[in-house]
Amino acid sequence: MIISNRVKNLHPYVPGEQPKDRVYIKLNANENPYAPSPKVQKAVMDFVNNNPEKLGLYPDPDSLELHAALAEMLNKSGGVLCRAKVCGENVEPSEQDKIPFTVTPDMIYTGNGSDEVLSFVFYAFFDSSKHFVMPEFTYSFYPVYAGFYNIPMDQVPLKEDWSLDTDEMLKRAAKNEGGIIFANPNAPTGLGLTRDQVREMLKKASSDEIFIVDEAYVDFGGESCIPLLAEFKNLVIVRTFSKSLCGAGQRLGYIVANPELVNIVTTVKNSVNHFPIDAVAQVSGTAACRDVPYYVETSRKVADERDKFYNFLQEKGFYVLKSETNFLFAKHPKISGDELYKKIKEQGLLIRHFATKGIEDFVRITIGTAEQMDELRKAIEKAVSC
Ligand SMILES: *Cc1c(COP(=O)(O)O)cnc(C)c1O
Repeated sequence: MIISNRVKNLHPYVPGEQPKDRVYIKLNANENPYAPSPKVQKAVMDFVNNNPEKLGLYPDPDSLELHAALAEMLNKSGGVLCRAKVCGENVEPSEQDKIPFTVTPDMIYTGNGSDEVLSFVFYAFFDSSKHFVMPEFTYSFYPVYAGFYNIPMDQVPLKEDWSLDTDEMLKRAAKNEGGIIFANPNAPTGLGLTRDQVREMLKKASSDEIFIVDEAYVDFGGESCIPLLAEFKNLVIVRTFSKSLCGAGQRLGYIVANPELVNIVTTVKNSVNHFPIDAVAQVSGTAACRDVPYYVETSRKVADERDKFYNFLQEKGFYVLKSETNFLFAKHPKISGDELYKKIKEQGLLIRHFATKGIEDFVRITIGTAEQMDELRKAIEKAVSC
């Protein structure tokens, strides 16, 4: 047999479909409908035009400029873009989001999308004897890493209202001396825990075990746990450019954590790929972080459109979870999730349906532009009326 036993047992992640046969309105992968800031485009063009030789050289392995720009963006926005206060070029966090310390570049680690970042975080903090606890329904890449790295995992069912069962997660983590990971706000439900709720969890969890909060969607209205880094040295916060920074194609993800934990993840990175962030991504990511007002505006537009669409779905008889993200998770009493997905696809729009038992009645709808959501309204009206 040519292949290793390890590979025989892999179960790769299945992303939202990216069909090439027809142009669909894509509301199935939680991408942002808006292009990155025009300043990102300009920075990339300038870089390529003015320094073509740099494409022939290795990039900065430590992405120092990008880390400095990220730290500054977090300090300005408080880590929740849609609530940040903008006055011309100046940005300040809302009262609710103020971070009680300055985020410094040595608290940042960046990788090739937060999927890669997560992979290194899993490698750094878990192994076959150090298992982790996660919610039953959360980002479906976590179990994939568990398989890849041979890490035992414990999946805790959600409560009846689809929120996290934090007590049970803590209980199981204590029993097996394991770490904890969840997305906050969670996916695919869209529901979030408040910072106080996470603080309570952290107080009860073992400070010797890692506690990972994936904030992929927090900029659309959740509460960031960055302020908790002052209190808890075992906390790792994972974030991405793919959702609120309109940058899924740039493949940039990052963690915010204490420098000691950042150094551990950096050691893992340097043992796999010294240069996961290419030169162009470093330039585009830095330019994005320096135009916070643009992303405050796009995050707000998405959040407003989400709240309008929530009302629409309710009017149409859907059961919809209240979302703090750029998607809605909803089911209709008369039409199955799979059927709805198919009827919407026939009309040229893609939404996401998970065949996973327990959530198979739901569809997950990414929030697009106002025009795209109008198209989806029409398609849904047609689908539920016949
Ligand atoms: C989209 C998503 C990611 C992955 O983001 P990339 O940076 O594009 O790899 C990670 N975690 C959650 C919860 C997500 O929804």
